[in-house]
Amino acid sequence: MLAGLKADGAKAVHLDVMDGHFVPNFTYGAPLIADWRKATNLPFDTHLMMDNPGQYIDDFIEAGCDILIVHIEVLPDPRSLLRHIRSCGVEAGLSLNPGTPIESVTPFLDDLDCVLVMSVQPGFGGQSFQPGVLEKVRRVKSLRPDLRLCIDGGIKAATAPAAVEAGCDLLVAGSAVFQGGVSPKEALAALAASVRRSS
Ligand code: ZN
Repeated sequence: MLAGLKADGAKAVHLDVMDGHFVPNFTYGAPLIADWRKATNLPFDTHLMMDNPGQYIDDFIEAGCDILIVHIEVLPDPRSLLRHIRSCGVEAGLSLNPGTPIESVTPFLDDLDCVLVMSVQPGFGGQSFQPGVLEKVRRVKSLRPDLRLCIDGGIKAATAPAAVEAGCDLLVAGSAVFQGGVSPKEALAALAASVRRSS
């Protein structure tokens, strides 16, 4: 499936790494990502939903991740970790949960390539989009128009246009793309069409 995603219209592969602590679920780690790296040259946008991202960061860099996103909730001062990631030639991002204020990430914008705004509570797929978080997207976009804004959670044809209108550059879609009955290609085309229709 990974091998076909580029032709299907995906711009990147978003990998949700869950440690069973920061979020209740457990997914996969660097060894599997290193395996998947061989299947596609799409950028690997890796979202580390974990308590101690610093402990494993070099494994994820080694595995071939292009973007590493860590959560501000577990890092009182993420500066040195972000700088380490970038010094290895990998892009660095900070993510924040729906309940976390945007002020928690704004002091670190100079050390970032992207901000990932969570539009659902992380850890489980299929939740509904919280439109209130778009205010955070607008705020970062007004402070730093050059920074890539990504949104994660509950993105589908009905919610994508508002996210793009608020300034999101990259939409993470899981359930909307990998659903029964529709191919990823058709689902991605429907998402793109929803955004075009409203622009
Ligand atoms: Zn994610």
